[in-house]
Amino acid sequence: MAASGTHKVKIAARLRPRLDGEIVDENIKVVHGADSSAGGAGSTISVTNPRDLSQVFKFPFSSCYDENSTQEEIFRNDVEPLIDVVYSGVTVTIFAYGVTSSGKTHTMQGTRAEPGVIPRVLRTMFEKKPRTSPTGGVYRTELAVSYMEIYKDEVYDLLVARESAPKLPVRENDVGMVFVANLSSVVVKSVEEFDQIYSQATRNRSTGATNLNRASSRSHAVLTVEARMVDDVANTTLTGKINLVDLAGSENNKQTGNDSTRMAESAAINKSLSVLGQVVHALNLGAPRIPYRNSKLTRILQDALGGQSVGLLICNLAPGVRFRQDTLNTLNFAVRTK
Ligand code: ADP
Ligand code: MG
Repeated sequence: MAASGTHKVKIAARLRPRLDGEIVDENIKVVHGADSSAGGAGSTISVTNPRDLSQVFKFPFSSCYDENSTQEEIFRNDVEPLIDVVYSGVTVTIFAYGVTSSGKTHTMQGTRAEPGVIPRVLRTMFEKKPRTSPTGGVYRTELAVSYMEIYKDEVYDLLVARESAPKLPVRENDVGMVFVANLSSVVVKSVEEFDQIYSQATRNRSTGATNLNRASSRSHAVLTVEARMVDDVANTTLTGKINLVDLAGSENNKQTGNDSTRMAESAAINKSLSVLGQVVHALNLGAPRIPYRNSKLTRILQDALGGQSVGLLICNLAPGVRFRQDTLNTLNFAVRTK
């Protein structure tokens, strides 16, 4: 197993702070410190049953962030160590899971004042670019970015202006490796260059022609940074990769009305998130068969989730009373994937 510890995909939780005007559910709390009644490790999210205050559900996490946690903390504890893993030639995947408004995009992208996982990963990858190979050779390291969106089980290239972005086919090569055909990949030479490409792509995501009817919360966004470490003398290339995934909202989609577009979206989201849960669970169990094929998201990430690869699933939680059921659903999802 490539990950330190026993899980290939580490499950973390983050409770966001209360937003203006939000009524907070006092029954949901992050309790730091090992709790033997909850399995011992790390911290616990405890949820008191509002109808029976003597009943407290405890969800243990080895990594658990409360409403005061910072972007910096999450990066230092759970993300930065993975960059060396990428540079050792391994594929790493980080997912943000949770209901719409739970803080997935804040965690992954963040703001200018509080940059999230994506800008920090890029900055650190530029800073830590390996220059010598393990055999003492000289590396020329190149970072290439691709960015796709999966909406209603179709794949779109976010690095292409939306009016012209076609649906991309998912194919398999002779050795069974799954890939998205014709997905563009751009070599970025600096953080500034990345920022430019990424903000243009983010605009593509929210203003494109296929997007008129929806918000970005109905699709999965997968940003991939590939590190190509070329040793020109030995004539070898070592490749590592990191996938940074802002998942579609996990809300109970039965409540989103019954127009046909919404229903098709909901079905695709429910299916792909539940398959993702099954895949992560099967990996963490060391199961012989992993149900990658059951959704496009997991099929595309097959090589990223199998083999030597490691992952981090950040379960984002909103403290509002109106999210109580979603919060329980997310916590149950987290527990099932361990
Ligand atoms: P999602 O992507 O899951 O729909 P967002 O990331 O858009 O959720 O977050 C919803 C709102 O909450 C946004 O206004 C965001 O700025 C705010 N928010 C989320 N997490 C935090 C946090 N940790 N600290 C401060 N504000 C946050
Ligand atoms: Mg979002």
